[in-house]
Amino acid sequence: MFESLQERLGSILNGLTGRGALSEADVSAALREVRRALLEADVALEVVRSFIEKVREKAVGAAVVKSIKPGQMVVKIVHDELVAMLGEEGKAIDLNAPAPVVIMMVGLQGSGKTTTTGKIAKRLTDRQGKKVLMASLDTRRPAAQEQLRQIGEQVKVATLPIVAGQSPVDIAKRAVQAGRLGGHDVVILDTAGRTHIDEPLMVEMADIRKVSSPHEILLVADALTGQDAVNLARSFDERVGITGLVLTRMDGDGRGGAALSMRAVTGKPVKLIGVGEKMDALEEFHPKRIADRILGMGDIVSLVEKAAETIDAEKAAAMAKKMQSGKFDLNDLADQLRQMQSMGGMGGIMGMMPGMGKMKDQMASAGFDDKMFKQQLAIIGSMTKAERGNPDLLKHSRKKRIAAGSGTDAAAINKLLKMHRQMADMMKAMGGKGKGGGMMRGLM
Ligand code: GDP
Repeated sequence: MFESLQERLGSILNGLTGRGALSEADVSAALREVRRALLEADVALEVVRSFIEKVREKAVGAAVVKSIKPGQMVVKIVHDELVAMLGEEGKAIDLNAPAPVVIMMVGLQGSGKTTTTGKIAKRLTDRQGKKVLMASLDTRRPAAQEQLRQIGEQVKVATLPIVAGQSPVDIAKRAVQAGRLGGHDVVILDTAGRTHIDEPLMVEMADIRKVSSPHEILLVADALTGQDAVNLARSFDERVGITGLVLTRMDGDGRGGAALSMRAVTGKPVKLIGVGEKMDALEEFHPKRIADRILGMGDIVSLVEKAAETIDAEKAAAMAKKMQSGKFDLNDLADQLRQMQSMGGMGGIMGMMPGMGKMKDQMASAGFDDKMFKQQLAIIGSMTKAERGNPDLLKHSRKKRIAAGSGTDAAAINKLLKMHRQMADMMKAMGGKGKGGGMMRGLM
């Protein structure tokens, strides 16, 4: 159905084979196609614009990993930025408040609000053992309250008895009170929608909010919402104040660009996604999966990831063990330097590893940059095996010999030794916390 970004990028991917850093031209050419792909995935125009500019700033000058083409590198950067912008993984509904915790569901008509209300009630009941009460505040659609009652029967969750002629605000008050008296942990208010946003709807939502003090206000939106997503999310957030988003119909053909649009304008997390009509078709949100889907580029992303990981698992395990024991000698340092060199330098590798920012800074402050690889390897190469295994042996006369052998001087050697000491200390500290293996694996 969609022309994949991969197909579109074809000529760019093949045409550009430059090495080293991404040029302005590489980035611009690739971003033109990324822009089209995002628009086609239903990401709102204003969000696409600011997103592309952000990526452009990041991408120009970024190191290109060996064996990867510039266009692919751009896609990887785009993907990572998308994931970052989509926000946290699986942020749960927050029930951390005195019972009954009120969850208010808002959104347009037909967005899947009532269905999602039932799904969430079922989930909280089945998985968290919560006692839930649901109430429909939709007094405009005659069948709405009855629809929720039937869903309640289906998922075996209590619904507030229907009283004809009550206003939404009165039903909300009654629901909270019934929740309190009935010892319910959670009360979910399924509000009325409209076909479009209008003033009376916003006033009604604000009034309901006032009388029910919801702990969560979830905006339910169809994943196929296109350019309207921004307006929708912004209006609800500004007028009612939302705490999270639920995207429905993620089982459909849509690429889910609305997730990015709505997240971008509200900064609120996507908490759940609806993936079907059945009551258990509700899933946690995984930013990475959605980013893959928006771009339709999962293969390129994993290709780049693999290229960046010329990782020998056994070596990684051995290194982790060494770190834990605090033994990280100059042979190990040389290994790492070589590995980094073969992967296109620090910028490239570090940029692609999540959580490596701090490490990168630490290493940079220890004088560890791409230009020094060669010199440092030359220094280590001029040492004897014994010296590499035990840097403490390196007194003045030995340093003089090594400086001559590597075409450097004592200062360069001292700098290397200092860096090694700092890394060894850092690794020992990390190893001690039991995290060393995981973090360092990416470095080898
Ligand atoms: P409301 O007007 O916002 O309360 O919307 P409803 O809950 O009545 O849902 C409208 C239609 O969308 C119903 O036919 C639902 O079964 C369907 N629906 C809701 N969520 C999903 C979903 O995640 N996937 C699919 N395929 N259909 C859904």
